[in-house]
Amino acid sequence: MSAQPLPIGRVPLGSWPTPLEKASRLGCSLGLGPEDLWIKRDDLSGLGGGGNKVRKLELLCGAALADGADTLVTSGARQSNFARLTAAAGARVGLDVVLVLASSAVDGPLGGNLALDGLFGASIVWAGAVDDEDLDAAARSVTEQLRERGATPVLFPYGGSNVLGARGYVDCGRELLAQAPDLTTVVTALGSGGTMAGLVYALGEGKVLGVNCGAISRPAAKVAELVGGLGGAPVGAERLSIRLDHVGAGYGELTEPVMAALQLAAGTEGIVLDPIYTGRALAGLVSAIDDGQIRPGERTILLHSGGLPGLFGHPTTLARILVRRAEGLSPRP
Ligand SMILES: *Cc1c(COP(=O)(O)O)cnc(C)c1O
Repeated sequence: MSAQPLPIGRVPLGSWPTPLEKASRLGCSLGLGPEDLWIKRDDLSGLGGGGNKVRKLELLCGAALADGADTLVTSGARQSNFARLTAAAGARVGLDVVLVLASSAVDGPLGGNLALDGLFGASIVWAGAVDDEDLDAAARSVTEQLRERGATPVLFPYGGSNVLGARGYVDCGRELLAQAPDLTTVVTALGSGGTMAGLVYALGEGKVLGVNCGAISRPAAKVAELVGGLGGAPVGAERLSIRLDHVGAGYGELTEPVMAALQLAAGTEGIVLDPIYTGRALAGLVSAIDDGQIRPGERTILLHSGGLPGLFGHPTTLARILVRRAEGLSPRP
């Protein structure tokens, strides 16, 4: 008898499969054909405002519940989408949530994801202006303090990107193969790496283009390590397609091409992208078309990984969106 693989515990949190929608007006405005560009709507994944982290959290929460946890802990940036969705997932499964954020209460507005963190009932520990290592250390320390108080905490990694979380994107890759068997390239934002890693495992490295967002210091090595951990043939970091040209002045900083991408997606398809991740993914797709890396006649898929609440946490981005005044129209008949 052959050994059965161990079942992986999964908590249902999202709505699957997410839609794959044709984006003819956006595609044509970029010089592609009307049938070429499609958007995978993982922003419509259902829980807590949606986004790519829901697929990861189904698996991470499944493991946490199996381990008897009563508290979820994670860390992230002030406007972390993963923190917001961990808060929503905790509410859904009935676990406490503590978020350790690299910022302080007075460091900026409390809107966007932060407002939702509070609405979902999470507590926040402000770690101040720390680097990645110190943020990790702060999250471990908070987890230890919870344990000393008698809780049973589980610490989720930054962005939910360990091998278990990345498995959620293996599922997405398989979903895409069923929806579009002839797909040529899936373009995704690359943050903590789990999303790209799962897609590479499911589709092969030749079919995935990652657009780095500047969230981690060695993105290619991280994605390669996760692909290996998923059990695939080890893929050399140098064989991955990753664009590094849209980081700009850094992770949280808006660039001109990203601003243009936000306006293009909104103005051609009525679809909202965010300034940190999905705006960069579209800006990278535009550059890939300019470079001939993506061509007309191929089926290209842009992964919409969510992030809408984050847009409302970046008031300087919003302030640059002009509100046009109607000329010659008056409210009186
Ligand atoms: C986290 C995030 C990403 C990046 O996914 P990773 O798995 O961290 O690389 C992309 N888009 C949005 C909206 C995100 O919140």
